Amino acid sequence: MSELHKFLFDGLPVRGMLVRLTGAWTEMLARRAGNTATGPYPEPVRALLGEMAAAAVLMQSNIKFNGALVMQVFGDGPVKLAVVEVQPDLSLRATATLHAAVPDGTSLSQMVNAAGAGRCAITLDPKDRRPGQQPYQGVVPLQALEGQPFEQFSDVLQHYMRQSEQLDTVLVLAADDRVAAGLLIQRMPVQGQANLAGTAVPDDAQDGSGEDFNRIAHLARSLTRAELLTLDADTILRRLFWEEKLVRFAPLQGAEGPHFACTCSRERVARMLQGLGRAEAEGIVAEQGRIEVGCDFCGQQYRFDAVDAAGLFASAAVDQPPASSALQ
Ligand SMILES: [Zn+2]
Repeated sequence: MSELHKFLFDGLPVRGMLVRLTGAWTEMLARRAGNTATGPYPEPVRALLGEMAAAAVLMQSNIKFNGALVMQVFGDGPVKLAVVEVQPDLSLRATATLHAAVPDGTSLSQMVNAAGAGRCAITLDPKDRRPGQQPYQGVVPLQALEGQPFEQFSDVLQHYMRQSEQLDTVLVLAADDRVAAGLLIQRMPVQGQANLAGTAVPDDAQDGSGEDFNRIAHLARSLTRAELLTLDADTILRRLFWEEKLVRFAPLQGAEGPHFACTCSRERVARMLQGLGRAEAEGIVAEQGRIEVGCDFCGQQYRFDAVDAAGLFASAAVDQPPASSALQ
């Protein structure tokens, strides 16, 4: 069962989270493998998308934002786009678009940053967005400031978090064909306040907390990908932090925890087609006899025959804006 564990270091302004996606992850892989138009993900793409999924769950839980967190990698190599979307209830979905083969062993930079033009964007799309309100978006390149391309996706996100939140963060991510998992350790922006466990952080935390964070960060970085993929959460946390005072919360799992769900629907696809316009839609029907739209995230096929298509434009009040195809 997929699960999310949150914890604090008692008395220290440091918090952590550990996510293990099992059922949620294998469901997404199985749906992609079952899509005859695309076939399964090549191994390097699967690794990237799994790490993105684990990271997106950690970030959504970390910010407690009432809306979707959308993590996108816009690649300039064989992978054109990789997307993970996590809702506040920790339901998530993911997809990747390839326009060339990705052989085993392809590096992250070869895959998405071949010419140095790859980007990672994180979008926070509020649930009840007011008309005209833009979602918040932060974008970072896929290389360090010195121009050295990142070869670990966790380095991209650590770079992002330093820039956007200015909080020291350690991320360890890994994914294979069974598990997508991640560990996040973050220094909390606390000044002489109680942390979430209700334990007062000393006023001089600003002097000592750097040392504490560095020690904990060092321990977190010692976690190997193999350990992250194969060990359960209790074992990982015990092995890494057995000398620290950990305050743990009840894990979020099952319906409360990370789970696969797709937000696509026939109504949303209909709105997208309405956004295309009558001429375009009728053109497709004339050419192909019907309109077929497949959801990239879950594989669901939506079919509109000539009568359905005519019905899309029959009602006078077509006033909704078109849904973006990436966020449909
Ligand atoms: Zn779907």
